[in-house]
Amino acid sequence: MTTKIQCWSCLKESPQAIKCSVCGVLQPLKRENAFSYLGVPISFDLVEQEFEKNFLDLQAIVHPDRYGGAHPLEKYYASEHSSFANAAYQILKNPIERARAILEIHGVSCDSKLNPELLIQAMERRETLESMISTEELRGMLEEMKSNASDLKQKIKIKFSQHQFNEISGYLDEFTYLSKAISEAEQLLEKKA
Ligand SMILES: [Zn+2]
Repeated sequence: MTTKIQCWSCLKESPQAIKCSVCGVLQPLKRENAFSYLGVPISFDLVEQEFEKNFLDLQAIVHPDRYGGAHPLEKYYASEHSSFANAAYQILKNPIERARAILEIHGVSCDSKLNPELLIQAMERRETLESMISTEELRGMLEEMKSNASDLKQKIKIKFSQHQFNEISGYLDEFTYLSKAISEAEQLLEKKA
């Protein structure tokens, strides 16, 4: 059964959608999760091109620039939709945010507690990075970290497919630290270049 809504503008009933199917006026934002809003399954294993296309199609409809002469309420709904679409797109694009969003939907708390072991590892890694004088060494370490990150992402993917949500949180923390170290190494490399 499709949910019906009453259009705020023409007051006719139409199926739940971004625009009224009768008068074509933009409807208020109904807060959904990032996945359903951008029309993709709730999955960690997403193809960026898929949700990117949906995002661009959606932005073409809701972009506030298109509502310059519209009713103030419709203009307001456009800006709400547009910023929600942007936020949803950012969540899906970032693997860490995407994973957190899925855990949240499944009611798994993933408040990142400061993990002392990871913190020490990260500090040591930074010291090693800073002490590296040759670009070669730095490049080698960067490659190694990138390969570790891709292994970790694979592990997270498997845990999601097995619905072992509770184990993912720890991997996510590790992935967060590693991603940070990778961007630090990349910055150092740029400085040396
Ligand atoms: Zn209408």
